[in-house]
Amino acid sequence: MKLIGILGGMSAASTQTYYRQMCEITRRRLGGLHSPELLIRSLDFARIEQLQAKGRWEEAGEILNAEAKALERGGADFIVLATNTMHKLADQMMGGVGIPLLHIADATADRIRQSSLTAPGLIATAFTMEQAFYVDRLQATGLRPVIPGDADRADVHRIIYDELCKDITTDHSRTRFEDVARRLVDSGADCMILGCTEVGMLLNAGNVSVPVFDTTLIHCESAIELALAP
Ligand code: GLU
Repeated sequence: MKLIGILGGMSAASTQTYYRQMCEITRRRLGGLHSPELLIRSLDFARIEQLQAKGRWEEAGEILNAEAKALERGGADFIVLATNTMHKLADQMMGGVGIPLLHIADATADRIRQSSLTAPGLIATAFTMEQAFYVDRLQATGLRPVIPGDADRADVHRIIYDELCKDITTDHSRTRFEDVARRLVDSGADCMILGCTEVGMLLNAGNVSVPVFDTTLIHCESAIELALAP
């Protein structure tokens, strides 16, 4: 079994889901007392969020790069960056790193392409919904992402940072997310990408009318798949 290096804490709320999910998937796959070989580095998200908000991406990238190198030195065979947004910095992060990154958008796009679905709604941080690093990567695989309108994007972004990243879930915000998902379907989305690793705290197959692709769960499944591959 390969050693998975998880770079997390962005936020700590979703890194807990990664740990729980990877353990569950491994137990399901191998049975008995099996659990995954993990090296988890959990950062202080307050520091990262400040750099994001101030647009100081270069500095954030330097932090991620140092952490990726530390995971490699620690013996990780590949890296899972447990956040969609910070994949904006994937190239800088992997500079001089000799082990591969399991890219969250590629894993998700692969999964969608296994279905006949082509127009995923995207619910994520404003960075992920509005910037090219994510949407273009999906488009390059032939998908046609559907993005929420201005007010919905602002509200989703606010709820992610003010609530979900602090492990807070409310019925009011769940209803807001359900409304956003419904409007995306009305705009032509034939499936939904939960494109932020905390969105699964509010949305899932039970409250979205189209097939749901939760990036956190897909990322975990792909990581265990890779870790167990010969
Ligand atoms: N975990 C989130 C994501 O998947 C947002 C927090 C962050 O900015 O890293 O995008």
